[in-house]
Amino acid sequence: MTERRSPQEATLVGRLAPSPTGVMHLGNARSFLLAWLSIRSRGGRILLRIEDIDGPRIKEGATERCLEDLEWLGLDWDGEPWIQTERLDHYEAATDLLVAAGRAYPCVCTRREVEEAATAPHDEEADARQYPGTCRGRWRDEEDARRHSGRDPALRLRVDEEAIPFIDGFCGPLPGRLPGDFVIRKRDGGPAYQLAVVVDDAASGVTEVLRADDLIPSTPRQLLLYRFLGLTAPEFFHTPLVVGGDGRRLAKRHGDTSLATFRSRGVPAERVVGYLAAISGLAPEGACCEPGDLVASFDLQKIVRQPVVAQDPPFAVG
Ligand code: GLU
Repeated sequence: MTERRSPQEATLVGRLAPSPTGVMHLGNARSFLLAWLSIRSRGGRILLRIEDIDGPRIKEGATERCLEDLEWLGLDWDGEPWIQTERLDHYEAATDLLVAAGRAYPCVCTRREVEEAATAPHDEEADARQYPGTCRGRWRDEEDARRHSGRDPALRLRVDEEAIPFIDGFCGPLPGRLPGDFVIRKRDGGPAYQLAVVVDDAASGVTEVLRADDLIPSTPRQLLLYRFLGLTAPEFFHTPLVVGGDGRRLAKRHGDTSLATFRSRGVPAERVVGYLAAISGLAPEGACCEPGDLVASFDLQKIVRQPVVAQDPPFAVG
C-alpha cells in the first residue's frame, strides 16, 4: 500500500525522550506508547532522545537498558538517537545568547534551592515554589558572583511574566502559570532540563510533544525559552499520569512494575502493551497486541482523562 501524506503530516515529528535515571516502568512505557501512537497514526517521524545530562542521577548501563526496553515493547524510532551529553556545546551556545541578551543572571543561592529548580522535572513541590529573586541584579557577572560569594554560580532566567497561557492539544486551554526565575545552567556548569529540552526539540524539528501531565508546569517555562531564543515551539499534549493505588506518581513503592522484570519473568511484550492500551482506553481489557496493531484505531480523544491507575497488573509476579 502506498502511503499518502499531506504536506503537514510529512513534517510531523515527535519524540521519545527517556531519562536513563532508573528502570523503565509501566508509567514511562505508557507515555512512550502514546507519543509513538500519536505520531505513527498520522504517518510522522519519531525521534529518540536520551536525556542523560542529569549527572549524578544517571545509572550505569541505563541507556542500553532503555533502548532494549523500547525495542522489546515494539516501539521503533527514526534515525540515530540524539544523546544530550553529546550536545553540550549547543546548550552552552543558547545559554550565551540568553546571557548576552540580559535574560539570564548568575545565582549563588543555596544548593537546595538550586537543585529544586534545576533538576527533576517531576518534582511537583519544586514546581510550585517561587524563587524569591535574591540574586536578581545582585552580581555584575559570573566572575563577580564567584569572587564575592566563593561559590560557583548557576544561571537563572529572568521571568517577568506571571503566566504564558497555552492551548494543550489534549487538555485544552491551560493557564501556564510561571513560578518565577528558573535555572537554565546548574552550578556544576551543566545545562538544566528546561533549556536542553527546548534546544533539542527545536534543533531536531519536533512539532509535537506528548508527555504525562506532571510536566505541565514545565511547559510555560519552555514556551518562554522558545520565545527568548526566537525558536518555534511545538504543540504540547499532556496525558494523565499513571499512578499507583494511592493516587501518587507510579514509583518503586508501588511494587516492581519495571519492564525488565516482566521481561525476565517471561511476560510477553504483547500483554504489557495490551495492558497499557487497555488502561488508557485504547483497547479492551485483557488485550494482547503489538503497538503497530493499535495504530489504525488510535484516537487521542479516546484516551481516558482521569489519572490512570496501574497497580498489580494481571501479569505481575511476586
Ligand atoms: N526525560 C523526561 C522524562 O523521562 C521527559 C522530558 C519531556 O518529555 O520533556 O520524564
